[in-house]
Amino acid sequence: MNKRNRRYNFNPGPAALPLEVLEEAQGQLVDYEGKGISLLEMSHRSRTVEELNHETQILLLTLLGLPQGYEAIFMGGGASTQFALLPMNFLKPHQTANYVLTGSFAEKAYKEASYLGSTHVAASSKDHKWRCIPAITEESLSGDPAYLHITMNNTIEGSRYTSIPEVTSTPLVADMTSEILSRKLDLNPFSMIYAGAQKNLGPAGVTVAIIRESWLELASDRIPEIMRYAAFATNKSLLNTPPVHAIYMMNLVLKWVEKQAGVEQLEKYNLVKSGLIYDVIDGSGGFYQGIIDAKDRSPMNITWRMANEDLERQFIAESEVHGFEGLAGHRSVGGLRASAYNAVPHEACQALAEFMLDFARRHG
Ligand SMILES: *Cc1c(COP(=O)(O)O)cnc(C)c1O
Repeated sequence: MNKRNRRYNFNPGPAALPLEVLEEAQGQLVDYEGKGISLLEMSHRSRTVEELNHETQILLLTLLGLPQGYEAIFMGGGASTQFALLPMNFLKPHQTANYVLTGSFAEKAYKEASYLGSTHVAASSKDHKWRCIPAITEESLSGDPAYLHITMNNTIEGSRYTSIPEVTSTPLVADMTSEILSRKLDLNPFSMIYAGAQKNLGPAGVTVAIIRESWLELASDRIPEIMRYAAFATNKSLLNTPPVHAIYMMNLVLKWVEKQAGVEQLEKYNLVKSGLIYDVIDGSGGFYQGIIDAKDRSPMNITWRMANEDLERQFIAESEVHGFEGLAGHRSVGGLRASAYNAVPHEACQALAEFMLDFARRHG
């Protein structure tokens, strides 16, 4: 636990938020900017909410380095709803949706598209137990591809793409839920990226879809309006009642990112933070066993195993006593996982590295 009685939060999502953001939101909760009512009680058609919504969209696009040519859309339903909306909007009857399988969220995205039309696995690391990111080339694609979907950071497995695949013959789409704004990337190769907010952007409730304007023009108009990206874009994401408070929280998180001197600075910080933990794993003589091939390891989700499940259970139990939160691996894979998103402070990673060293000394 730190000085403020806050636990060291390594939850995979919903995940840690910057303390300054929580405190700012707390201060504004009952009386938003002196308006005499809470934002939670305000009409989404009010000028206050309209401005907040618009400002947040601009801020997000700017921080992502996509100030021109893209629409930022705010929706509900989580990243999982995007798994279905993407093919509904962009998979035409004669086309095939291409997917790279790198973990269970990638598989889910693929499966949702399969309900709607023709799909193709362009590459997969399933046979390698998701330990690496497979290579992708133009030859990996199907005929008449609608798009190629990748999962930039695999939250459950702990892997990530080190660079953006060089596929130019079809629109490139990425699920960036667990790494958006965590590193400097030129996102211009993407026709669309999307992310649920609850890992790097804010609380659960809002999902962002960033879509190139020229691609958006090609989206289907044969689906219900409430499912259409273009309808959201035209209405500036105020087609129906948006998750106003989640957008407000995201606005505060984005301003916090700005204050950290932006994504470049956060990337450096994130590499130092995750390095503290990977160094302990690599230097433990096998006591802690990293799961992902070193070249593809994620700075966001650090995964490892130990000699047996009893020892892993003991590690988790002791970590909880020492003020750590959320270190159990995903229920589908077991092992351990530390999610060190943007808002997880250096101090927490340092404390975890020290705890891991101490635990290894006592149990090794
Ligand atoms: C968490 C996560 C999801 C699922 O998000 P929901 O908002 O719960 O639907 C999808 N993809 C990735 C990469 C994730 O990390």
